[in-house]
Amino acid sequence: MESTLKIYNTLSRTTEDFKPIHEGHIGMYVCGPTVYSNAHLGNARTFISFDVIFRYFLHLGYKVRYVRNITDAGHLESDADEGEDKIAKKAKLEQLEPMEIVQRYTIDFRETMRMFNTLPPSIEPTATGHIIEQIEMTKQIIENGYAYEVNGSIYFDVEKFTKEYNYTILSNRNLDDLLNNTRDLDGQGDKRGRLDFALWIKAKSEHIMKWPSPWGVGFPGWHLECSAMSSKYLGNEFDIHGGGMDLVPTHHTNEIAQNLACHKTQPARYWIHTNMLTVNGQKMSKSLGNSFLPNELFSGNHKLLDKGYSPMTVRFFMLQAHYRSTLDFSNEALQAAEKGFTRLMNAMKLMNGLKVSTNSSVNIDAVKTEIYNALNDDFNTPIAIASIFEAVRMINSINDGKETITETDKASLKKLMTEIVFDVLGLQEENNTDTSKIDGLMNMIIDQRNHAKLNKDFATSDAIRNKLKDIGFEIKDGKDGTSYSVIN
Ligand code: AMP
Ligand code: ZN
Repeated sequence: MESTLKIYNTLSRTTEDFKPIHEGHIGMYVCGPTVYSNAHLGNARTFISFDVIFRYFLHLGYKVRYVRNITDAGHLESDADEGEDKIAKKAKLEQLEPMEIVQRYTIDFRETMRMFNTLPPSIEPTATGHIIEQIEMTKQIIENGYAYEVNGSIYFDVEKFTKEYNYTILSNRNLDDLLNNTRDLDGQGDKRGRLDFALWIKAKSEHIMKWPSPWGVGFPGWHLECSAMSSKYLGNEFDIHGGGMDLVPTHHTNEIAQNLACHKTQPARYWIHTNMLTVNGQKMSKSLGNSFLPNELFSGNHKLLDKGYSPMTVRFFMLQAHYRSTLDFSNEALQAAEKGFTRLMNAMKLMNGLKVSTNSSVNIDAVKTEIYNALNDDFNTPIAIASIFEAVRMINSINDGKETITETDKASLKKLMTEIVFDVLGLQEENNTDTSKIDGLMNMIIDQRNHAKLNKDFATSDAIRNKLKDIGFEIKDGKDGTSYSVIN
């Protein structure tokens, strides 16, 4: 009855039938966060998308080894091997040990992932924990003739590589255009070719994160860690490699080149890339200043937000777009998601108490087929959610006595909805899903305070504000009236 799983593969630019290398097993590597600042909502979108993919594989019965790294060294400010190491820079700024920065933001990242109900990966390896593997890989790439040393740094020789392999196989970019568009060699330091990139970088004396190597004291280039760690834990050839689409042209292109140069094999069969969370059409990113943190979203404490939204509302909002489409953030879309999520959770509760009849007027199998067809079609969560809402409509109609369901169908409906909504989509009930009641209560209190202010009873209005602050609500008086937010 169910269709087979199809995945859009960036490498072939087509949607392919999914077939794992070893039947029943899946090896999946996803590029994880660089832990030099709090993960923003855009980062969260990518990891929530892969969480659904991971959960769906588990649901289908696969044994999955899901590796998601933590980048705790080597990620420089620019993709062109320039600038400072992001973590070392932050450590200097805050006068902390780099590992204090790493610890702080790794904890924050895990907490954010937990709030969004994402499952932990099977292995979460760090770049600093795999310096030896990265040095070994560099040695092998030099030995195979695809890298050269200049003054204590090792560079990947893209020109040499392109003689035997297709360097732009993943991005499908035109190599000549790339060569022409990349800046002149001036300012490229010791690199011989315009597209060459660092495998190992000689550390300046003031650099704080550095290790000894056969080429002197230095640190690994950013792309190398993922090649070294994916092959260590998943083998030289594994099933799936993923990350955000912004990683295709440089990070993943270079990862493929490193693996081919070292092991002579393409690392992953299927490359999955998630699209960006945008704000007014622009990629959400820290450097553009349009990013916000999950906590700001939960509390509503941000200039772009009308109010706060619960983690499950946000997760639901994200799943309403396909992972390969951009998703634009807006207050209206989040408000609609809040309503939709509440409606879904209410139906989940109603489902258990539905009265059974001797015959069914609803077709559970048809909904089930639709949901699986959608998920099997490159994890199409928005279409699956549309079908889930068909089931929600059924549940409400049965509850209103307009439709009927047999005991057997009710059991299938419960199994289907519980497995898809909770296990695969990773949604869960929240106590505070319905914020409208709190809104109502808060507006009543704000009215009382405004009334006191009008009567020049400032003792009362201040007392209301201070009392609310004590219990975790902040009142803001603006030109459009008074609003409140939850203090975290
Ligand atoms: P970083 O910590 O910057 O290395 O990013 C971690 C992951 O988040 C990468 O897979 C990025 O592609 C992804 N990412 C960064 N910005 C966004 C965004 N606005 N929307 C979706 N994913 C993003
Ligand atoms: Zn990576």
